[in-house]
Amino acid sequence: MHLLPAFLLALAASAASAPQNQKALSGRPNASYSEPGVPGVDAFFDYVVVGGGTAGITVAARLAEKDFSVALVEAGTYYKLRSLTAFIPGADSIKVGASPSVHPAIDWGFVARNVPGANYRDIHYARGKCLGGSSALNFMIYQRPTKESMQLWADLVDDQSYTFEKVLPFYKRTVQFAPPHDQHRPENATAEYALSAFSEDGQPLQVSYPNYAMSFSSWMRGGMQAIGINETQDFSSGSLFGAQYCPSTIEAHDQTRSTSQTAFLTADISHLRTLTVYKNTLAKKILFDSQKRAIGVRVQSGLLEYSLKATREVIVSAGAFQSPQLLMVSGIGPSHTLEKYGIEVLSNLPGVGQNMWDHPFFGPTYRVALVTFTKLAADFTFLIKQLLLFLLSHIGMLTNPVTDFLAFEKVPKSHRAAFSAHTEEALSQFPSDWPEVEYLSAAAYVGNFSRPFLQQPNDGSNYAGIIASLVSPTSRGNVTIISNDTTDLPVINPNWLATETDQQVAIAAYRRIRAAFHSKAMAPIVLGEEYHPGSQYETNAQILSVIRNTVMTIFHAACTCKMGVRNDSQAVVDSRARVFGVNALRVVDVSAFPILVPGHPQSSVYMLAEKIAEDIIATS
Ligand SMILES: Cc1cc2nc3c(=O)[nH]c(=O)nc-3n(C[C@H](O)[C@H](O)[C@H](O)COP(=O)(O)OP(=O)(O)OC[C@H]3O[C@@H](n4cnc5c(N)ncnc54)[C@H](O)[C@@H]3O)c2cc1C
Repeated sequence: MHLLPAFLLALAASAASAPQNQKALSGRPNASYSEPGVPGVDAFFDYVVVGGGTAGITVAARLAEKDFSVALVEAGTYYKLRSLTAFIPGADSIKVGASPSVHPAIDWGFVARNVPGANYRDIHYARGKCLGGSSALNFMIYQRPTKESMQLWADLVDDQSYTFEKVLPFYKRTVQFAPPHDQHRPENATAEYALSAFSEDGQPLQVSYPNYAMSFSSWMRGGMQAIGINETQDFSSGSLFGAQYCPSTIEAHDQTRSTSQTAFLTADISHLRTLTVYKNTLAKKILFDSQKRAIGVRVQSGLLEYSLKATREVIVSAGAFQSPQLLMVSGIGPSHTLEKYGIEVLSNLPGVGQNMWDHPFFGPTYRVALVTFTKLAADFTFLIKQLLLFLLSHIGMLTNPVTDFLAFEKVPKSHRAAFSAHTEEALSQFPSDWPEVEYLSAAAYVGNFSRPFLQQPNDGSNYAGIIASLVSPTSRGNVTIISNDTTDLPVINPNWLATETDQQVAIAAYRRIRAAFHSKAMAPIVLGEEYHPGSQYETNAQILSVIRNTVMTIFHAACTCKMGVRNDSQAVVDSRARVFGVNALRVVDVSAFPILVPGHPQSSVYMLAEKIAEDIIATS
């Protein structure tokens, strides 16, 4: 019964997206796409960038804009050729659920196996495999970290060019902001924003708001107020406490997803004539000369193996799991791991693949007296109507990437009674403006997020939840190789909820969500008792057990090639993203973060890419 709507959504979207693809492909390569690389033929460039994802495309495009010749190596292809729904904001969660048996065609299909903190479940961990990378798969939330968290970043890497004020221009550089279309949003769903957080010159990533505000979010706003979290103007100017309708990486004019690929590679690319894109091409190994200078990358397109030589630098932007993998198979990483797989050690860096931060989430679901995403999955006529509204008029529920309202807080005193002295001590290490919990609207049945679309109850009711994400996590995971070949996916161990601190904050956050749902402000829409897991799960031990059985990631894996100072044994790159122990090699992506700054990381991935690109250009 559930499969039919999903199939038709894909089918109808396919029909609608076909002209778009044709348009994008017309005149190829000169009109819309940059020059494709010739598989199997060795070639020379100034720079070789590995990974055409969020950071990689940004760096490659900025370098090409300055006329450097750049090879961009991407294992996937243009995502619109492989995904029928990726451009629809409201379809963003369809296939990224926890179930290991489902993943989109533009996803690598990582599975974290036997996760102790998740009651030893196997959990799918989505990562984009396409031009655009994870920006083509993500939930599109756009906001920035806090001032003190960026000060911590600057201090940890001993480089004051990372303070919030100093990096703000790089955040602004990528983004073209468009205010919400208020005519499409109810009066009680006005999104506030600060125009000063954006620049008129920013381009080409589109940041705006959906032409449909989820009704549930206005009630969540009331619930948040009831528990002491008031609305605030803006989450992009260095402060996160409070609640608001969040901006998303959405094209304002047609309400489609904006990604690093749609932003940089399909607009007018005449200024990128020195960029050569090697799609469907896997980077196998970084090549070095006898002085440990990176001189190129060994790649594979289909059955063809060949070398792309870099006369200036190699830049690795393969993401949180595969940047450390590529370093390791190329001889950079913990020596004992490398030796195990017969890899010659060029630079013994124990931190490669370690220090993985992430933001796990969980939360209860209620039956509500509102239309939510549940109806899309359960009511075929409604689904088709919404699809037509989206495709023909760029309005309706499918313009909304499901989560459109966020709130951040440090857990208030009233809910800290069960925190141990150790937990308080661990949390005190985070700066005073760094929230401990984020609450996100989830106007659908959440459960264990195994199959977000197909798992919606089909009983004629609508469901909604508020999910909590741990934004000051103290558990750290890791990623490691299982062979000396990048064809074999590395093994990821997210290690969520490993610490007592994370467990206690998670329980407190769960209780905060319940308090919001049980507030007078939300009473008019809450139907009956808590639907999932149910109010019988009341003690801390019971709540923790529910959390373990339902915990999922919000896909923010980071810091696996962390930035730091040379005498930090876990640091992999310096503050200019240069890999320690070798020359002419940088890592520029979410793996290079020294810390996972609070909130959602894509803005900071773009920021880092812009900052390092400017550094490369300035010093070339
Ligand atoms: C489902 C999901 C939801 C998310 N929601 C949000 C959100 O709402 N807001 C937010 O801010 N962040 C969100 N994130 C996180 C954010 O999207 C990522 O942190 C960010 O996009 C990572 O950028 P990156 O450049 O580090 O990696 P990616 O964008 O993943 O790019 C890595 C690229 O490298 C390629 N690659 C890997 N290995 C190789 C190889 N050996 N050879 C060639 N190519 C290779 C990959 O195919 C990929 O294209 C979400 C992520 C996911 C997956």
